[in-house]
Amino acid sequence: MNLVITQLSKTYPNGVHALRGVSLAIQPGMFGLLGPNGAGKSTLMRILATLQEADFGEARLGGIDVLRDKESVRRTLGYLPQEFGVYPGTTAAEMLDHFALLKGITAKGERRDTVAALLRQTNLWDARARRLDSFSGGMRQRFGIAVALIGDPRLIIVDEPTAGLDPAERARFLNLLSELGERAVVILSTHIVEDVSELCTRMAIIDRGSIRLAAEPMQAVEALRGRVWRRGVERALLPRVEEALPVISTTLVGGRTLVHVYGDAPPDSTWEPVEPDLKDVYFTVMKGIEVHPEAAAPVPHEPLPPLVLPPPIAREPEPPTADDRGPTDWFAPRPAEPPPLRGADR
Ligand code: ADP
Repeated sequence: MNLVITQLSKTYPNGVHALRGVSLAIQPGMFGLLGPNGAGKSTLMRILATLQEADFGEARLGGIDVLRDKESVRRTLGYLPQEFGVYPGTTAAEMLDHFALLKGITAKGERRDTVAALLRQTNLWDARARRLDSFSGGMRQRFGIAVALIGDPRLIIVDEPTAGLDPAERARFLNLLSELGERAVVILSTHIVEDVSELCTRMAIIDRGSIRLAAEPMQAVEALRGRVWRRGVERALLPRVEEALPVISTTLVGGRTLVHVYGDAPPDSTWEPVEPDLKDVYFTVMKGIEVHPEAAAPVPHEPLPPLVLPPPIAREPEPPTADDRGPTDWFAPRPAEPPPLRGADR
């Protein structure tokens, strides 16, 4: 069953255009919806979960009209919202039993089996008699997934689930999610690039209500090969580099600022090529630079070898001598009458 979203738009009464004509075709499997805070992810998730109205557009889950036939969607939907409340005094097993009843599993024996299976699947069996308000963040999120999975849904929506989890809890949670994508459309909304690179076979990047890229993560990365360059830059020089070059990211690594720039060739010989990753894709797209995964070589669908991080850059290049301080040398101290910087007079 595919989910096909066409031209979905939503403007809030305060005039914020949260979604501007979003179109996506999503097949069964894990789909990552990646975007910064305020991009429109939750609005899209809530509309698909039938909790909010769209102003315009269409969404179809197989034969179901998602925007109109809300009852049919709800029967086959599992939704883990960003925040969910639980009755503080109840145990995990009691609460799950309650939700299973609400979802229409009325036969007691079937409900007991369902609850037990879900507690085991989410690794909460040993905590089944514990009160929910004693759960850690990761346990709560796994409990949320157990609730979302009641009734074997075909559409599973998980909104920003890893925010606030510590690394061990996050890894356990992502492992659990990775098992869900076999039969259902699973949409994972997140602002964390690693959530998508670790889990998702397809993804879209959303920003200010518009889809900027829809692609297979590996192919999007492939499209950047040979187009990302890096070097360490002293902090004081950063503004000038940002002014002169298409900087896609600046990261602090071991107290140094590592700059990635986009281009068909390195700006000069002091920049070295980067093995691109999904973060480079994300930052490139967010800078408004177009990435064309369809033009990249197809990526075989085999397990990848572990990502090998490039060695740290040994040292800053020698400062330029007076002779090679040409007009394109952004790293030289500014002379009294600065020559024009390359790209600065655009
Ligand atoms: P995300 O989930 O990507 O952070 P949201 O869908 O929550 O994005 O928000 C998209 C935009 O819509 C933001 O600018 C946000 O401030 C605005 N917004 C969200 N909900 C409401 C609301 N109920 N009323 C008005 N504006 C809203």
